[in-house]
Amino acid sequence: MAFDYDDNNIFAKILRGEIPNNTVAENDVALAFRDIAPKAPVHVLVIPKGKYVSFDDFSANASDAEIAGFSRLCAEVCAKEGVGLDAGNAGFRAITNAGPDGVQEVPHYHLHIMGGRMMGPMVL
Ligand code: IMP
Repeated sequence: MAFDYDDNNIFAKILRGEIPNNTVAENDVALAFRDIAPKAPVHVLVIPKGKYVSFDDFSANASDAEIAGFSRLCAEVCAKEGVGLDAGNAGFRAITNAGPDGVQEVPHYHLHIMGGRMMGPMVL
């Protein structure tokens, strides 16, 4: 199966409480925490609590409630971190890497929310 999930990945360990994280926000279906090696003043990872490998796995297989809850937590992170456009901030970049061609390191779906500086053009 294409979306085989590895229970030993580091974000699974974070969700099980086996290793610490710097939590920014949390709800029933998702957790947001600071990236351990931030690439911008704001660099938060948002992950579903369910076992999804990648963006396409999550988008295809998560429930509507999981998808909605995940998106709401992303909005909460943008507001809390002072990058959300609704409050007149300068904005942010949200990206996800998937699989080998996307250079995904951790095989548990995560969205990077980065801001606090001008990101520059997308570098491919
Ligand atoms: P990917 O390349 O999109 O899979 O990004 C994985 C991200 O996870 C990288 O930005 C890492 O710095 C980050 N990371 C790895 N381990 C940890 C951790 O234990 N806590 C927080 N972030 C982590």
